[in-house]
Amino acid sequence: MDAEARKMVGNLRLVLLGPPGSGKGTQAERLAKTFQVSWISTGEMLRQAVVADGELGQRIAGILRSGNLVDDATMAEVVSERLTQPDVEAGFILDGFPRTISQADTLSRILREAGETLTCVLSIDVPEKELVKRILGRNRADDREIVIQNRLAVYREKTEPLIEYYKGFGLLQSINGDQPMDAVTEEMTAKLAVAV
Ligand code: ADP
Repeated sequence: MDAEARKMVGNLRLVLLGPPGSGKGTQAERLAKTFQVSWISTGEMLRQAVVADGELGQRIAGILRSGNLVDDATMAEVVSERLTQPDVEAGFILDGFPRTISQADTLSRILREAGETLTCVLSIDVPEKELVKRILGRNRADDREIVIQNRLAVYREKTEPLIEYYKGFGLLQSINGDQPMDAVTEEMTAKLAVAV
């Protein structure tokens, strides 16, 4: 099944959307393995920048702790640089980008300039109560309860509009994220096979 799925999608260029706690990261990692493409997590890239403690890391550390978004101009720089690295030619799964309409426009521009398009956008749906339960179990520095409420609010305000945005391009597929992890992976793989 894996080899077959891989053949069907060719060079997968996928965006994963979903609120914090939706399981995006876990699913992105699994799909990247199955489809042999690069997993690009902007949250992970930014957390690493904070650990490295350079100019970028120092500038964004407080923003990450608060659960707010890093500004669009900085994100455009970070992602443009990542998407021009050679491994990305074989395809990618974007986890955590875009998070705003402006970022989605940036991504469209980068792809257009490279003569490429997105294969598909998968949006993972999970009820809010379940999200809070999951995030509290994670115990990360930006996962304290007041910060969680802020991150969920930021998601609803800034990122959720991307669902309609990508629907408008006929790229969006919804995934039920309120089921066991393996079932979510299966639903995603099945929908990807249909999307291409
Ligand atoms: P989660 O998947 O739990 O929402 P991430 O690991 O994707 O968390 O992101 C962690 C934090 O990194 C976000 O709360 C935000 O501050 C920052 N971040 C990640 N991606 C972006 C982005 N595309 N634009 C702005 N900020 C981002």
